Amino acid sequence: MKWDEMRESDNVEDERGNGSSSGSGSSSANLLGGLGAGGMAIAVIIGLIFKVDPAQILSFLTSTKTAPAPQALVKTPIKDRDSAFVKSVLGDTEDTWAKIFKQQLKTNYQPPKLVLFDGSVNSACGSAQTSAGPFYCPADSKVYLDMGFFKYLEATAGDDADFARAYAIAHEVGHHIQNLRGTSGKVRQLKSGSSKTQANELSVRIELQADCLAGVWGHFASQRQLIGDRDIAKALDTATQIGDDYLQKQSRGGHVIPESFTHGTSQQRVTWFKRGLEAGNIDQCDTFAAQQL
Ligand SMILES: [Zn+2]
Repeated sequence: MKWDEMRESDNVEDERGNGSSSGSGSSSANLLGGLGAGGMAIAVIIGLIFKVDPAQILSFLTSTKTAPAPQALVKTPIKDRDSAFVKSVLGDTEDTWAKIFKQQLKTNYQPPKLVLFDGSVNSACGSAQTSAGPFYCPADSKVYLDMGFFKYLEATAGDDADFARAYAIAHEVGHHIQNLRGTSGKVRQLKSGSSKTQANELSVRIELQADCLAGVWGHFASQRQLIGDRDIAKALDTATQIGDDYLQKQSRGGHVIPESFTHGTSQQRVTWFKRGLEAGNIDQCDTFAAQQL
């Protein structure tokens, strides 16, 4: 993946090193929450892509709960590989979506801000812990990225982690696009008046659509040869049986994470990612009109 050829975004806010100093002061209490749904979802995606047992990833993430809170607050330098990578991928989603919005939707794209954090972070959707994984908050239109998760991927998968990390960003940007287009608002409304089963079904469609939108970004990145067949093959070659069943066995923290708990089966996720990837057209991502997911 040639992320260093992508344009760096100006919309990244670096809050690393600030995490444990924010809020009411008890960072150990903040760390007691369980793994957020967003973190679980991403762990499963990573498991899918790299054929790593998600339980292994989850145990790493949840084990950080008991780690002692950092005593000294040392601000991480802004210029490092992680932030350069995130800025580049986000910049590329901005360029790609600006073009798609103009051509396919005849309107301008308003990019999201992206907050890098470790420790914990306060969003308009509530506080999130170090183990939350990436999530999107519609109330402040920001993507939140937990850098501990990125570091773990780099330690285990090396260069191969890049596409998984880019995919995670593109999926969250997908939620931002749903927010811009009013889809998430409509779905929230529908959910409030529906049964639990119907609400679950709607959540699955929202998540699969975000996967499809990540695929649309992938289509254009691959067209410009910034991601290769090898990156994509990794994502598609694998359809393990880890979907909602697995997710629902995990405990959920009490904090607010606007990521849905239900993401569909792994096979459905691959199908919709592939659909966006092949079509490069936002119209192909209408999971709500689809009879079969
Ligand atoms: Zn999601």
